[in-house]
Amino acid sequence: MRNFVNPVVLKIFTTKAAVGQYLSQIKASAQTVGFVPTMGALHQGHMSLIRLAQQRNDVVICSVFVNPSQFNDPKDLEKYPRTIEADIKLLGEVNCDILFNPGVNEMYDDNEQWHLSIGETEHLLEGAFRPGHYQGVTQVVYKLFNIVKPDTAYFGQKDYQQFLIISKMVDMLAMPVELVMCPIKRETDGLAMSSRNIHLSTDDRRHALILSKTLNYIKDKFDGNNIAALKQEAAQLINAEPGVELEYFEIADGDTLHTATPQSNKIVALVAAKVGKTRLIDNVLISS
Ligand code: AMP
Repeated sequence: MRNFVNPVVLKIFTTKAAVGQYLSQIKASAQTVGFVPTMGALHQGHMSLIRLAQQRNDVVICSVFVNPSQFNDPKDLEKYPRTIEADIKLLGEVNCDILFNPGVNEMYDDNEQWHLSIGETEHLLEGAFRPGHYQGVTQVVYKLFNIVKPDTAYFGQKDYQQFLIISKMVDMLAMPVELVMCPIKRETDGLAMSSRNIHLSTDDRRHALILSKTLNYIKDKFDGNNIAALKQEAAQLINAEPGVELEYFEIADGDTLHTATPQSNKIVALVAAKVGKTRLIDNVLISS
């Protein structure tokens, strides 16, 4: 168990070389490294990942890097919140050990190419609405894992499909890292915490609750055989909410992300919608 009687001073690195060198000393002293990759605009969802990493590792490193290669819409990239001063403050408060905050030029060479054949999951759900997104995600996570070489990396269930795809990459490339999926942290009214929530107007914020409400409703009503009817009902509920434009609602097999069947043993309901101008995603495990 870590002892926070003496507060930890957050060490901040912006270069691969410096963070790699610091981490190699830590590993040489047989300490374990837990890693929480993020795009910043940190909130209590991110903090819950860091806390879990702290319970299970000697040293915890968080990265803050808004990865351009995973954005298919340049406007979305430009608009993505960047709050590094506040992020540093939060990381200090939670006693995180290390922040890696590289610039784009530190992470990418000019005209760099990347393609990883990760199978059809890449093109479903998020992949269908954000073409190329998971190529960018695997590209940056591969780079980050090679720089940090963590024992364990922590990701949120909030990005359920991302977790499946990163797990696939780690298996395919035999990367020596354990992955942990952490539960979704929500506001008290049920809204899943997200860096993008700061773009929601007061009205958007109220309308956005339809997503978590519908997910919970579907979870309650699910009986194993009513998948098609429930999907339809969920879409109707969400489309009826003012200011909300549904992209997809799926009751999926938790391994393949195809529509679940009565034979699926792990089932997850996933949703994506634009609320006002802000794109939100959420999901709930129905059976696992
Ligand atoms: P992001 O900064 O949005 O890329 O997220 C970084 C990590 O935090 C990802 O693994 C996310 O799944 C996770 N995360 C984001 N929001 C939440 C949340 N509300 N609860 C738990 N984890 C989250």
